[in-house]
Amino acid sequence: MKILIFFGAPGAGKGTQAKKLSEKFNLRHVSTGDLLRLQIERKTELGLKAKLFMDKGDLVPDDVMIGMVKNTINQTKDVKGIILDGFPRTLHQAEELDIVLAKNNHCISNVLFINVNKQEIIDRLQKRAEIENRKDDSDISIVENRISVYNQKTAPVVGYYEQQNKLKRIEGVGEIDDIFERIQNTLCLI
Ligand code: AMP
Repeated sequence: MKILIFFGAPGAGKGTQAKKLSEKFNLRHVSTGDLLRLQIERKTELGLKAKLFMDKGDLVPDDVMIGMVKNTINQTKDVKGIILDGFPRTLHQAEELDIVLAKNNHCISNVLFINVNKQEIIDRLQKRAEIENRKDDSDISIVENRISVYNQKTAPVVGYYEQQNKLKRIEGVGEIDDIFERIQNTLCLI
């Protein structure tokens, strides 16, 4: 089973592109943000706890996220692969992911880093706030916090995958279909 990671700042387009790729190649799209929002909608204990962090633009604690992804991977069978969108977001999550995958006889095929500049990110998140009514996209101070959390805690994960020769970079600015083309040319999925 192929394991692909879509990596990048909030608003880089990970979700949009992961959805398109998963539909085209019959992969399972696992968005940890979507999984958390589902828990919030269902008002579960995990959801209520996670909401406190998400509303501020902070990361949900590693133990919660690692548990969630572990369960998802253990339960996923009979698909060609998984696209992880929004996980890992810390070095600890990246290390734990390698351990879970090794236990299941899987490994990461590629990590796709979608590069987008800061102003474009802010513009996109403001647009998304109107369309999806996401609290964490709507307030500029929360958006700034998410970008700073990304720079401090998530960006160092790039080096982790670079050392493993798994990182592929693409430019994430442009038309959605052009970016999709770039992704397909970069990741050989056929
Ligand atoms: P996303 O939809 O990927 O932008 O995620 C929305 C929010 O969910 C993030 O700002 C975090 O608060 C939380 N979240 C999603 N994935 C993770 C993760 N891997 N680690 C910690 N928090 C996460």
